[in-house]
Amino acid sequence: MITTVCDAGCKEQFTIHNLQQKHLSDGVEKSYFVCPHCQHKYVACYTDDEVRKLQGKIREVRSRFGNRNYDHNQRRRKLIQAFYSIGGIVGWATR
Ligand SMILES: [Zn+2]
Repeated sequence: MITTVCDAGCKEQFTIHNLQQKHLSDGVEKSYFVCPHCQHKYVACYTDDEVRKLQGKIREVRSRFGNRNYDHNQRRRKLIQAFYSIGGIVGWATR
């Protein structure tokens, strides 16, 4: 929840509980919220399929870091392995 002021409309204070979505063409989605006093619409963002996938990954990483039981060392080892395997393919970091 975020408390804000309707600066483009009635100047009243209100709380944003959640964003509403509207599907536009080509998989594009508009996320917005509405002032409950004067119904002024504020666009928060536009997303497409790729952006929503990336947002999902960000949420996944955030939840991992918030989880005390998550094995960060194992993840670090896997990333280092991936890093060196990619480096080996392109011919650098192969020491
Ligand atoms: Zn308003």
